[in-house]
Amino acid sequence: MHSKVVIIGSGPAGLTAALYAARANLEPLVVRGLQPGGLIATTSEVENYPGFVEGIGGYELAENMEKQAARFGTEFKDTLVTKIDAEARPFVLHTDSGEQLTADTIIVSTGASPRKLGVPGEEKLANRGVSYCATCDGFFFRGKSVVVVGGGNSALDEGLFLTRYVSELVVIHRRDELRADPILQERAFANEKVRFIWDSTVEEVLGDDKVTGVRVKNLKTGETSLLATDGVFPYIGHVPNTKLFAGLLTLDENGYIVTDGRQRTNVEGIFAAGDVVDHVYRQAITAAGEGCKAAMEATWYLAEQEHAATKKASQAQTNEVTSPALGQW
Ligand code: NAP
Repeated sequence: MHSKVVIIGSGPAGLTAALYAARANLEPLVVRGLQPGGLIATTSEVENYPGFVEGIGGYELAENMEKQAARFGTEFKDTLVTKIDAEARPFVLHTDSGEQLTADTIIVSTGASPRKLGVPGEEKLANRGVSYCATCDGFFFRGKSVVVVGGGNSALDEGLFLTRYVSELVVIHRRDELRADPILQERAFANEKVRFIWDSTVEEVLGDDKVTGVRVKNLKTGETSLLATDGVFPYIGHVPNTKLFAGLLTLDENGYIVTDGRQRTNVEGIFAAGDVVDHVYRQAITAAGEGCKAAMEATWYLAEQEHAATKKASQAQTNEVTSPALGQW
């Protein structure tokens, strides 16, 4: 299957790129990946995406973006890209279904994944009390006590969402000051279900077949203590999903794709947008903006390629007409 534009990833960056590429009549193909809609689709409420006065659910926002891109002719595929042959023209993308896709341009918008605590018990108890998605799993913790780790916007936003269900929310943060926006801090401090454990980290998630507690270390005193809990939601930042591009695209020291300010990577014809590039702003709106830029750049790149090919063909034709074939001399 050949496409002029293949977009890898379906978060706000990928879906906005799809919308713009589709409206440029490029009939883009979006490879949805593991997390259709991207991380925003797992977010409870988005209050800072312009145009939605009362806010909008993250899933609904992603769904709307997908429908809008589809309306202009975007195609979607539920598969994973496993390897890219960037030497070939067109590019060749291998997928986990065995199908090969070819593309004149690629827009990488694979986003980022929640950073793991990396402590004993976390992996074993994943989906047994350890969750990275409050929106998906909050309901299962009705009337229970849960822990959120982290002090950023995600920790408080998702933590506040959890207070709809849980009886108690304990925020464990490694400093005595939160990173989250003041408005979220105010809401958290005013919520009587929320309490904070400051200057502390989670050293171990406890439990045999489900979470029963966490071992907490106070970083100032060095003391450790056990805290009984039914759930652990780590919200300690993200890591970019760039494994596929190691050795192919230039990455920075934290694994983010390096672009030139116009979403162009070091490989001509491959563009990147959203959380896979941006470790500073990481907002749905900035990701969408970068997706728009990437699609416009891809459109211009394809137009240039087409122009160059047409010029070469007409040059060849002119040469054929003006220079007689060898046998005619
Ligand atoms: P973040 O802003 O990077 O915050 C990560 C938090 O985890 C920080 O408080 C950090 O502590 C802590 N942390 C990092 N590594 C840790 C570790 N190994 N152990 C314990 N704690 C650790 O990440 P985020 O909250 O996921 O937010 C990501 C981006 O999405 C941000 O730009 C945020 O503004 C955006 N976002 C926005 C909204 C919203 O606007 N409503 C909602 C969600 C996310 P320190 O503070 O000490 O560094």
